Amino acid sequence: MTDIRTVGVIGAGQMGIGIAQVSAQAGYDVILSDIDLPRAEKGKAGIAKLLARAVEKEKMTQADADAVLGRITSVGEVAPLAAAQLVIEAATEREEVKRAIFTNLGTVLAADAILATNTSSIPITRLAQAAPDAGRFIGIHFFNPVPLMVLVEIIRGLATTPETVAAMEAYAQKIGKTVVHAFDAPGFVVNRILLPMLNEAVFVLGEGVGSVTDIDQGCMLGLNHPMGPLALLDFVGLDTALEILNVFLTTTGDPKYRPAPLLVKYVEAGWYGRKTGRGFYDYSGPQPVPTR
Ligand code: NAD
Repeated sequence: MTDIRTVGVIGAGQMGIGIAQVSAQAGYDVILSDIDLPRAEKGKAGIAKLLARAVEKEKMTQADADAVLGRITSVGEVAPLAAAQLVIEAATEREEVKRAIFTNLGTVLAADAILATNTSSIPITRLAQAAPDAGRFIGIHFFNPVPLMVLVEIIRGLATTPETVAAMEAYAQKIGKTVVHAFDAPGFVVNRILLPMLNEAVFVLGEGVGSVTDIDQGCMLGLNHPMGPLALLDFVGLDTALEILNVFLTTTGDPKYRPAPLLVKYVEAGWYGRKTGRGFYDYSGPQPVPTR
């Protein structure tokens, strides 16, 4: 089985930095990459901020935080990923972006290294066609925020070998996550169930059936959900949610996945949620304020 010591992470956005952080906390050396060095460094600075907060709250010592940060190297190119035994791709949820990354990575990836994708919705077997070796290609689907959420889904493509699955199970265990296995179908298990519900919440809002507060409080108090669906969409990123729904729609052809028109409008307006400061809530003040 591949002995994983160094983990490469591609995409230093909200998921990538979480994956880098939990991997470094588990003792792996981490290479965090993005389109260019400033973006990768911004991601590492985000991790430093979270670690500083953990030290402030006395959940971690300063020495441990320094050691975790010291294990993370930010890079703006793929060449350094040659040193990794496992590379986890967590770049933008667009198939052509991921395919281009895999093709590029194929020129440097070590012969026995595993390539995993954190895609939320794109079929693993299809993406494997752009990977250097379909047998060593697999899905590992993390949840947001990565340091707090305990679950990962492991998704086998048709050609994924049992050794690759075993190596990913061992990695997941080392970073303290619980694994569920999913067959390679759009959305796997959790997003297949979650996204139609989030999308329906936007239909309900768009049709004027309820306000942002009515919908979120309704689901929190009536369904015992810890967070309302619109607040969760702001957290996930409306752009990412729209991409996922479009993948479901085009892959299955089932109209039940058509994105709510208001979701499309918000994405067209650049209101992606927390990451842009506005989505269904406005995040410019000390407290999120509902926008409708
Ligand atoms: P994000 O927009 O926060 O980050 C994406 C990052 O990828 C950006 O930093 C971007 O610069 C980088 N990137 C784009 N093209 C690149 C390239 N060619 N090379 C290197 N880096 C590149 O997105 P995110 O929310 O972190 O999502 C990343 C992936 O994780 C997506 O596949 C998404 O579906 C998946 N995911 C997201 C969530 C969630 O809740 N947001 C949960 C599970 C899985």
